[in-house]
Amino acid sequence: MSIFKVYRYYSKAEIEQKAYEVLEKMKAENFTPKWPFDASCTADALGIMIDWQNILPDDKGEIVAKIIPTKQPKIVLNNNIHKLKEEGFQASTIAHEIGHWILHINQDLARGSVQQLELTLSIDSIEQQFLCRNVSEQIYKNRPETQDDWREWQAQYFASCLLMPREILEAKRKGRDLTNWHHLYAMQKDIGVTISNLVYRLQDLGWINIPKGSKQIYPGKAAPNGQTNLFNR
Ligand SMILES: [Zn+2]
Repeated sequence: MSIFKVYRYYSKAEIEQKAYEVLEKMKAENFTPKWPFDASCTADALGIMIDWQNILPDDKGEIVAKIIPTKQPKIVLNNNIHKLKEEGFQASTIAHEIGHWILHINQDLARGSVQQLELTLSIDSIEQQFLCRNVSEQIYKNRPETQDDWREWQAQYFASCLLMPREILEAKRKGRDLTNWHHLYAMQKDIGVTISNLVYRLQDLGWINIPKGSKQIYPGKAAPNGQTNLFNR
């Protein structure tokens, strides 16, 4: 048995549900979510520390962030990645790491609550981390192929649902035109995400459609009707 769960498929609906459960948990722990979203409150609500360190690149390239699943789980953000100082990218990165915690880590084992394994795991878990290189933008561009790619995709999809629940998107789009870039940039600021986070989410929901290679935004097939309910889907 490993701290990391065996790879499995999650449907988009399942991942979205898990993100909404975390938003519920935030409410229950008195970290009621607010937008622009502060993902460090999510970490607080889940008892996960956030730390900044200089993470050196390895032979596969730069590492943006990682999660260390020990008794006191910790998200480490790389001081050397300047983009991480931008609010939206930082929120997306923290939410991505939380996605790994929720979807891919045996939390009881990580926290050492399964006692007979505690000793071996405390040694193992130092070695076992997710090293996230392509948080956010790259994940949207590259097609996942390996199970590792798919884990990264799942964590990022989780982040996207956590930061941009449908009801919040409904609220923030009021009085705005989703096919106007200026309006999308204003929404992006209001929500506290990057523009690519927002555009990916809106396209995934089918609210807008941007043909490949184009900058023109068209209304999507599933353009909203104002009927969605957060937390009650
Ligand atoms: Zn990752």
